[in-house]
Amino acid sequence: MSDCIFCKIAAGQIPARKVYEDDAVVAFHDINPAADVHFLLIPKQHVDSLAHCTAEDEAMLGRLLLLAPKLAAEQGLAAGFKTGINTGRGGGQEVFHLHVHVYGNR
Ligand code: AMP
Ligand code: ZN
Repeated sequence: MSDCIFCKIAAGQIPARKVYEDDAVVAFHDINPAADVHFLLIPKQHVDSLAHCTAEDEAMLGRLLLLAPKLAAEQGLAAGFKTGINTGRGGGQEVFHLHVHVYGNR
């Protein structure tokens, strides 16, 4: 997806304040944070939304969710945090590359 902003972040083509990266996942701070700490977890491989995932995405989805508490703790949210996945225009999704919001106050 050449015009996808999160694909460009995953590829390092536009800057982001990354908090984590591996072969399949990138996490970076939200540019418009809703709390003291607010980062997004995305798969490197483009998928439009949660509603576009299939059984082939099971491992990727598990990896995103299992990383959330680990990275949240590293970012100072050991006491707890919120997660959110906005899906579709009716769900408030603005960037159509699957992402998990992780946010909370220290
Ligand atoms: P959503 O409504 O779930 O699609 O939210 C998209 C989120 O991406 C919003 O919270 C934006 O602030 C965030 N966002 C958009 N562009 C960037 C960017 N270049 N770097 C970091 N976060 C971004
Ligand atoms: Zn993308």
